[in-house]
Amino acid sequence: MNKKDYYEVLGVSKDASSDEIKSAFRKLAKKYHPDVSKEENAAEKFKEAQEAYAVLSDEEKRKQYDQFGHAAFQGNGGMGGFDFSDFDFSDIFSEIFGNGFGFGFGSSKQNRKTKGRDRLIKMNLTFEEAVFGTKKNLNLDVMEECDECHGLGGFDPKTCPNCHGSGYVSVEQRTLFGSFMSRSVCPTCNGNGKSYDKTCKKCRGTGRIKRNKDIEVTIPAGVDTGNQLRLAGKGEASVNGGSNGDIYLEFVVDKHPIYVRDGNDIYLELPITIPEAVLGCKKDVPTLYGTIKLTIPAGSESADRHRIKGKGVEDVSYKRKGDMYVILKVVVPKKISKEQKKLFESLSKTNLEDSSFDKIKKYIK
Ligand SMILES: [Zn+2]
Ligand SMILES: [Zn+2]
Repeated sequence: MNKKDYYEVLGVSKDASSDEIKSAFRKLAKKYHPDVSKEENAAEKFKEAQEAYAVLSDEEKRKQYDQFGHAAFQGNGGMGGFDFSDFDFSDIFSEIFGNGFGFGFGSSKQNRKTKGRDRLIKMNLTFEEAVFGTKKNLNLDVMEECDECHGLGGFDPKTCPNCHGSGYVSVEQRTLFGSFMSRSVCPTCNGNGKSYDKTCKKCRGTGRIKRNKDIEVTIPAGVDTGNQLRLAGKGEASVNGGSNGDIYLEFVVDKHPIYVRDGNDIYLELPITIPEAVLGCKKDVPTLYGTIKLTIPAGSESADRHRIKGKGVEDVSYKRKGDMYVILKVVVPKKISKEQKKLFESLSKTNLEDSSFDKIKKYIK
């Protein structure tokens, strides 16, 4: 369950550049590739490095990982880590091992199956839901593989007449330097090499049908506005038998009536009276985790801040809690009784003037 940190796996710092990440992966791939390595646990180490590289080399995925840690790729509540089976390593492997290598693992570029489309959905959360985590039901229209034809679009498969079953066709390209033959995915069969005489009625040959679904989503504690959560494989079905797309949930968190959140820290403005500020007092302060008594020392002023350690928001990936800051605000009453007025008047006859006023006095002519 304790997955290793991706940066640790590659041995780079959190602010490593993309070049540093690439060269770190290159070193590990050379060392641990199962076809060439004699190291112990090479396959496992190689897989670890691949997963780390697939995430950290992708700007968007790296951002999510920095925010959520492994929770960013949790699928549906599990902690399986990032599924990198779709990631195309062929470029970097041919860079490392030379062209022609890389055929043994993953598919070559030409007949790669394409992944279904990703979707971005904005989700509103209350302040408390974001802080403490919650479960939400998402109702979605999702394009899924047709269960009648299993996504093939038809029955009684025949070898595709256009590509003779290979899945790709040769196209002649004319350029200034002469003509070349290049391969591309067969448009008739979308690269799967088969065609069908009998079209599936249920999906009208598309291989996909629209379905309305309820998905239960676990929102981890500590998310904030702008954070995204990836629901692996919950997006649209692929058009040619590839994996489903993903859903990205982006959170929009409501403001709280008294708390202001800044990252994992919580701020609360606490009004106190003039006597409370002058004489000191004990005040009840509501925190995210229950009410506490805060001692306000005598001689407190507006904007004085008290740090209450560990009463902030739990970090979504590191599980460490932020702090709470109570900011004092000395409130001057607008309406006072006759008796209070008398008290203030007699107070003003005492010598309350602060020595810091002397600096200003010098300029009074
Ligand atoms: Zn074909
Ligand atoms: Zn069908």
